[in-house]
Amino acid sequence: MPEENISAIATPPGKGGVAIIRLSGGSPLSIAEKMFVPAGTVAVKDFEPYRLYPGRIDGGTFTDYGLCVYFKAPASYTGEDVVELSCHGGIYLTQQILDAVLHAGAVPAQPGEFTKRAFCNGKLSLTQAEAVMDVIAASGSRELQFANAMREGAMVRRVHAVQEQLVTVLSGLAAWADYPEEDLPEVAPEALQTSLQQIQQDLKQLLQTRDYGRILKSGVLTVIAGKPNVGKSTLFNLLSGCERSIVTEIAGTTRDVVEECVRLGEVTLRLSDTAGLRETEDRIEQIGVRIAKEKLEQADLILAVFDSRQPLTEEDWALLEQVKSRPVIVILNKSDAGTAQITPEQLPDFPYCITMSAKAGSGLSELEAAVKGLFDRGDVTPELGILANARQTACAETALQMVTDALQALQGGELLDAVTVLLDEAAQALMTLTGERVTEAVVEEVFRHFCVGK
Ligand code: GDP
Ligand code: MG
Repeated sequence: MPEENISAIATPPGKGGVAIIRLSGGSPLSIAEKMFVPAGTVAVKDFEPYRLYPGRIDGGTFTDYGLCVYFKAPASYTGEDVVELSCHGGIYLTQQILDAVLHAGAVPAQPGEFTKRAFCNGKLSLTQAEAVMDVIAASGSRELQFANAMREGAMVRRVHAVQEQLVTVLSGLAAWADYPEEDLPEVAPEALQTSLQQIQQDLKQLLQTRDYGRILKSGVLTVIAGKPNVGKSTLFNLLSGCERSIVTEIAGTTRDVVEECVRLGEVTLRLSDTAGLRETEDRIEQIGVRIAKEKLEQADLILAVFDSRQPLTEEDWALLEQVKSRPVIVILNKSDAGTAQITPEQLPDFPYCITMSAKAGSGLSELEAAVKGLFDRGDVTPELGILANARQTACAETALQMVTDALQALQGGELLDAVTVLLDEAAQALMTLTGERVTEAVVEEVFRHFCVGK
């Protein structure tokens, strides 16, 4: 049975030069035929694929002039016959044309349904389909590079490489299980162990990219921490480019967490200004301090701020000790006013230590360089493929868990059958990652987050 014809406005809502209404399904040309009157002599049903035809869009109660193009299955985005109508980009007009298309027999496309059909027709893997949305959502060049590499199949290639190793191991195990009495080269436990360790290593490396993917897409969770009055809110305002957080000379001014997304060079920071860390009797401030400590735990990056004119106290050293093993940039603030009592030399454990004045705005380029050093990782290249979302990460985690369990089973002298079962599950998890074997529910969930018209 030919697929239902779906339709949606593919361009964003708003006034623009041109808007596009997209149709895909078993017979989109038969729908276009009902409302597009070509300016030339070729009838709509005889349109050559991949050619633009000018004409009149006739909606019954209105007319517009535009273009019609036909993409013939399977050489189209969805793998089905596709028709696109370009019209003038008015909000009311495009909606009217869509209504006319629906009236002519199409049904409204669900979010992501075009891409879902592309996936179901084997035009894209699931990770490639997910990357389409990331391409659209990219807000910087690096993000776009990664999303494009994923769309071109970087992740699929990476996962397939691991799958191939797994399949080799599994087929060795299967041959042994089927013909144990034959003169097959025996499954040497050492060789099996070495292969599994290699697979485990590859999966661990893959999982190391999870934070990078998240940070690239949604920004570095950055927390500004330090004692009251050291200039945290001033720094927050400097970075966010506006007076977002209240600054006073009164210690304990900031109680709520104030958040803002800022761009520093090529990196997006999701910046939180927090209450100054101190013991306090004030109940509201106490809550602020507790939340500040929680935020500190979750942070990808900590900006630990100090008043450079005050020597380091025991409390300061305690904070430094707490954040030492985390990605941290130490900021020696208020360099504009008075002699420094803290210098970078005192803090050899902190490679990123910056002297600045949040008030005067000096030291910002050093801060940008430090953030670049920590997060703009040149060694993670787009072609390698990175885990782009929680779904992919969960699949990779399951695969790693199963391989780890299989290794343990092997080392514990369990039957090779048990090892096989676990490795089968690892292989399944990787197939779910790429979408080679997924349930309808997973597919629904992935495309639910897409925009309509993609
Ligand atoms: P917070 O409690 O850490 O958020 O500190 P604030 O940002 O509210 O600043 C406390 C006081 O220090 C205010 O009076 C600010 O004007 C002042 N301050 C902050 N940064 C600087 C700086 O770089 N130089 C100087 N001279 N004063 C600063
Ligand atoms: Mg403050």
